[in-house]
Amino acid sequence: MSTATKLQRSAPASVVPPHADIVVIGAGFGGMYAHHRFRQLGLSVFGFEQGTDVGGTWYWNRYPGARCDVESVDYTYTFSNELLEEWTWSERFSTQPEILEYAEFVADRFDLRRDIKFETKIVSAIYDEAANLWNVRTDQGDAITCHYVVTTVGCLSVPKDPEFEGLENFKGEWVQTGAWPKEGVDWAGKNVLVVGTGSSAIQTIPEVAKTAGHLTVFQRTANYSVPAYNGPLPEHRQKEVFADYPGYLQMLKKSRGGQVFELQTDSMAAEFTPEQQQERLQQAWELGRWNIQGCFRDITLNEDANKLAADFVHAKIRETVKDPATAEKLIPRGYPLGTKRLCLDSDYYATFNRENVDLVDINEEPIVRITEGGLQTSKQEYPADLIIFAIGFDAMTGPLVNLGIEGRGGQSLKSAWHDGPECYLGIAAPGFPNLFMVNGPSSVSVLSNMILTLEHHVDWIADCISYMRDNGYDRLEAREDATHEWAAHTEMVANRTLFPKANSWYMGANVTGKPRMFMAYIGGFDNYVARFDAVAAKGFEGFDLSTSKVEENA
Ligand code: NAP
Repeated sequence: MSTATKLQRSAPASVVPPHADIVVIGAGFGGMYAHHRFRQLGLSVFGFEQGTDVGGTWYWNRYPGARCDVESVDYTYTFSNELLEEWTWSERFSTQPEILEYAEFVADRFDLRRDIKFETKIVSAIYDEAANLWNVRTDQGDAITCHYVVTTVGCLSVPKDPEFEGLENFKGEWVQTGAWPKEGVDWAGKNVLVVGTGSSAIQTIPEVAKTAGHLTVFQRTANYSVPAYNGPLPEHRQKEVFADYPGYLQMLKKSRGGQVFELQTDSMAAEFTPEQQQERLQQAWELGRWNIQGCFRDITLNEDANKLAADFVHAKIRETVKDPATAEKLIPRGYPLGTKRLCLDSDYYATFNRENVDLVDINEEPIVRITEGGLQTSKQEYPADLIIFAIGFDAMTGPLVNLGIEGRGGQSLKSAWHDGPECYLGIAAPGFPNLFMVNGPSSVSVLSNMILTLEHHVDWIADCISYMRDNGYDRLEAREDATHEWAAHTEMVANRTLFPKANSWYMGANVTGKPRMFMAYIGGFDNYVARFDAVAAKGFEGFDLSTSKVEENA
């Protein structure tokens, strides 16, 4: 745990005002910073959050082994020097409890809860064109009007429901990694089944295996994972970062992913000799993190370069996993390395050497149903006391289309995005004036360091609102042509890479019926920020800015 001084807990809002300048939906890291930043503009801000407290992702994902895959020194708010000095992370990759503790500390430090109503879900947000106001309603019967709605609902916050036949008759306990019970779950000595082998499962499995009676993992697609080499936060790393923090931050902001890796190159794989290629891959493996993706510049652009890295990881899996049949099942095939988010693990592959752990490939024996006592595949029944579903999220659009948002002419966001989301710069959509979506679809968000991306969006929104205020505008709407152009650009950039070759949540491929398209901007954080700067410099190009009062008087 961190060494920061414990502060007195700030009290949440007890009364919902009838009106606020801005309503912020969500109180994760984006929502918390939005409150702080928008208050600085002298505007009234009110927020709603479904959980009982702040933290967002880190509030809901309490599963065993949950930790960030971005180094703690980089996964930290940058907006306050005082805050940076007051908080010290204890591990290289922070655990979920420590990140949640940090969120609570920030909420106390900046008295953020006073304008947030918790345990409250938004049921509708409807734009009134004549009044140029949004009407927001909640499941607690609250009604509030506001000028601007800012959504900070996360990209991966709607867990997929486990739609397995018979689940309702299961006599044991079942849980989802993405909505892990606050009161905790006891698996010691029990027969546990884990369904899924994405990032969440890869963190959960080694932890659960340590004390479960027996653990069976049901895998549909094997995932690439590399060692995190977690441990205490090394002193030299802290010195490196904080000796010249402004300089370090500039370096992060000029990077493609909001992080800087030890191993980076401008050279293509073919420019190295075969010996050099293997040396770089070995070096990357020993460094951990996502260094493997920095071995060659064309690793996610060129199939041959990618295959070098994929074969290297395959060999590591064969080296680590003692049973050759299990090793073969764990070897990812059929998609390029890195095109499903690369997982960082602590002893994931080695966990399958334990006597109490088994792996089932559900392509060989599909899941038929959940029974009263466990899980039935086409071959046998696996008894269970506890089933853990780590089956992912309705990513990027799921959290937004369920808010009941209706824009101009009564059009819902759900229907506007029926054939796939179109979101100008990943922040605003045509037909929805004065609605800003922090880390919305087609933003760089999930392909970068989320803290930097959310701070960037919130700062940009604050600047935009200030500009509007200073220039007498009170309505802003993304233009159709600019939005189509951004959608075409994001698609073009994605199609230059190998990413569209995987059935990933980036592509919407993990949710039945979801349109298949790449849902993030893959051109790099540096280029993304440059585009926002250019848009702002040209008077918010691509947005229609207007004054509702003038129109009324005309
Ligand atoms: P995920 O990557 O979508 O993985 C879900 C897993 O469940 C996949 O193995 C998937 O198989 C399987 N699955 C889905 N539906 C299934 C079904 N009906 N039957 C059997 N298997 C099924 O989800 P996640 O692991 O929660 O991770 C999502 C994202 O959250 C990550 O990519 C990452 O961005 C973020 N995350 C980050 C961290 C971190 O910071 N360390 C930790 C956890 C999550 P298929 O591959 O075949 O679809």
